[in-house]
Amino acid sequence: KGSTVAFIGLGIMGSPMAAHLVAAGHDVTGFDLSPASLDKLVADGGKAAASAQEAVSGAEVVITMLPNHPQVEAVIDEVAFDDGTLLIDMSTIRPSTSIEIARKLSNVRVLDAPVSGGQTGAVQASLSIMVGGNEADFAAARPFLEVVGKTIVHVGPHGAGQVVKAANQLMVGGIYALVAESIVLLEASGVDPKAGLDVLAGGLAANRILDLKRESMIAREFQPGFRIDLHHKDMGIALDAARAADVSLPVTNQIAALVAAARAQGYGSLDHSALLKVIENFAGR
Ligand code: NAD
Repeated sequence: KGSTVAFIGLGIMGSPMAAHLVAAGHDVTGFDLSPASLDKLVADGGKAAASAQEAVSGAEVVITMLPNHPQVEAVIDEVAFDDGTLLIDMSTIRPSTSIEIARKLSNVRVLDAPVSGGQTGAVQASLSIMVGGNEADFAAARPFLEVVGKTIVHVGPHGAGQVVKAANQLMVGGIYALVAESIVLLEASGVDPKAGLDVLAGGLAANRILDLKRESMIAREFQPGFRIDLHHKDMGIALDAARAADVSLPVTNQIAALVAAARAQGYGSLDHSALLKVIENFAGR
C-alpha cells in the first residue's frame, strides 16, 4: 500500500522524482511556487496543493527539493508538521543549515539527502543519494529513496549528507577545470583535442566527465544541464563547510574563483562545462 507523500519543489529535479513516486503507488501531493510545475505533477497523476501547509498536512513523508537554504528555511518556517513526520530534504544546502533544521524540528524525523546524477539521473531514477541523520530514520526513508535513486548510502549524522555532496561538487568543478585546461593545451599546441582526449579516456585520467562531456566541450556546446549559477552556490557551500571544519582547501578555493569568474563573465545560465570559456579567456585564446 502506498504512503501519503508531500513533495515541495517540483523543478528540473523534483518534477521527475515526484512522478516516480506516483508511479510507485504513493499518494503524492505537491507544492511549488510555479503553477506550470503543479500542472505537470497533476498530469503525472499527483495532486496539487495551494500551499506548502496544505501539502504537508496529513503527509507521512515530506520531501523538499528546493534551490538553496533560504527557500528550505522559508518553507519549514511557514509550515506546522504533524508529530513524527519524516522530512527528507534532498536540496543541496549548507551542512550547518541541515543540522540546525534537525535541532529546531524536534517533533520531526529529519534527514538531509542531497543527490548526484543530474537531470538524467532524476529522469532515469538512478540518482546517487548521500544521507545524513539517524539510522532508524534512514531505514524508514530507504524505500522512498529507492524509488528515485540507485546508490543510496547513509554517510553519518545530520549534515553529513551535505558534506559529502560538497565534496562531490568540488571534485566535479575541479575535473571540469582540468578537462578545459587539457583542451586549451592541446589546441594551442596544434594537437587535435578529440584524438588527444579519446586516448586519455582510456588511461589513468579516465573519468565520467571526460566520457560524457568531451565532445560537447570541444564543440563549445554549453546548454544546461547544471547551471554555473547553481555550481557557484555549491562552491560557496564547500568553502563554508571547509571553514566550519577548520581545514584549508587550496584547490577548492581556486575552483570557486573560476566558477565565480564564469558567473561574473556572464556565463551563469550556461552549463558548468562552460568553465572552458573562463580558462580560454585566462589563457588569452
Ligand atoms: P530548479 O530551480 O529547477 O527547481 C527548484 C523549484 O523550487 C522551482 O520549481 C521553484 O519554483 C521551486 N521553489 C522555489 N522556492 C519555493 C518555495 N518557497 N516554495 C515552493 N517551491 C519553491 O532547481 P533544480 O535543478 O531542480 O535543483 C534543486 C536542488 O537540487 C538544488 O539544490 C540543486 O543544487 C540540486 N541539484 C540539482 C541538480 C541538477 O542537475 N539540476 C543535480 C543535483 C542536485
